[in-house]
Amino acid sequence: MTTILTLDKVEKRFGDTVALEPTSLGLEKGEFLALMGPSGCGKSTTLRMIAGLEAASGGTIRHWDRDITDLPPWERDMPMVWQSYALFPFLTVRENVEFGLKQKRRATAVDRRKKSGEWLERLGISDLADRKTDQLSGGQRQRVALARALVLEPEILLLDEPLSALDAHLRLRMQSELKRLHGDLGITFLYVTHSQSEAFAMADRVAILNAGRLQQLGPAREVHAAPANRFVAEFVGGSTILTGTARGEGRIETPMGLLTALAGYPAAPGETVSFLVPSNRVGLSEAATGAPNEVAARLLTEEFTGSFVTVYLELADGTEMKVQLQQSDLDALSLAPGTPLYASWPAEAGYVLKEV
Ligand code: ATP
Repeated sequence: MTTILTLDKVEKRFGDTVALEPTSLGLEKGEFLALMGPSGCGKSTTLRMIAGLEAASGGTIRHWDRDITDLPPWERDMPMVWQSYALFPFLTVRENVEFGLKQKRRATAVDRRKKSGEWLERLGISDLADRKTDQLSGGQRQRVALARALVLEPEILLLDEPLSALDAHLRLRMQSELKRLHGDLGITFLYVTHSQSEAFAMADRVAILNAGRLQQLGPAREVHAAPANRFVAEFVGGSTILTGTARGEGRIETPMGLLTALAGYPAAPGETVSFLVPSNRVGLSEAATGAPNEVAARLLTEEFTGSFVTVYLELADGTEMKVQLQQSDLDALSLAPGTPLYASWPAEAGYVLKEV
């Protein structure tokens, strides 16, 4: 892999507010990187600095070897697709798509027409070419915004929550379209979102920010399976976090007894640790089986979500545990709120976090 965009100790302050602490990261050519985190963590500010819409307070941004830190947006060749589409309502769909080409004087009128036609076709909006953009649905507008950016044939496309304004059904469809488009084009995508499901569905790698600080950057599966800290584990979800005192060889003393978590941080005896129990690794039974890592629980609720069932339990120490099961796993159990149950999981599934 080759690094196409480098952030070297890039930071941003607005008066006393630190939007981004000095942050270094590299974007690999052709990858789909999702930058995610909760509201106000600095995602959009980071993207805006890369686009040239916000000046960095410190550090360097390089596109290949070229220092672009102080260049205006139009000299960066990194178009942005916005949540709000930012189309020109007084222009037609085709004129919107041709706008950037015209401004950059990159093509003759004939070429512009040809290129815009190709992108309208590719994004399935050719029949809308002569409409004004205020006569379009949200999904259609987002396709126009994508066509307008992609017609410029950028090496890097910046996307700031582009699907947030769409309804759930359309959002899922656009997710798979975007992923396919990325695969077909080989362009590098930098995609800002607060939604972990959106990021995990599309991205090769994810970068997680919290309060202006980069928490973890890695392949989506790795971040999910091995979160760097408690914040990442909670943000990513999918596990129950338990706390106890390490007793050596992966054993952890908890209010529910001695449990074993073999993956992750090798805690020294006496250390207070948190560990994750992935919701898809837990099994349930009505009677104690004597299995290792077996804890008594009480059913709170169950939710049928189509392909699987999510069960919420309350453990003896009051912790809420989330368990994901196939319907067939539940057939043998008679469940009602309050039913006493036993939950157990394999010792190698327990993942110890470095910090509490
Ligand atoms: P969201 O998901 O809500 O859009 P975000 O992660 O994109 O959030 P940013 O918009 O980057 O967050 O904002 C990061 C921090 O910088 C926030 O505390 C925000 O209030 C602050 N901030 C952003 N822009 C400005 C500005 N122009 N002036 C002052 N503070 C700002």
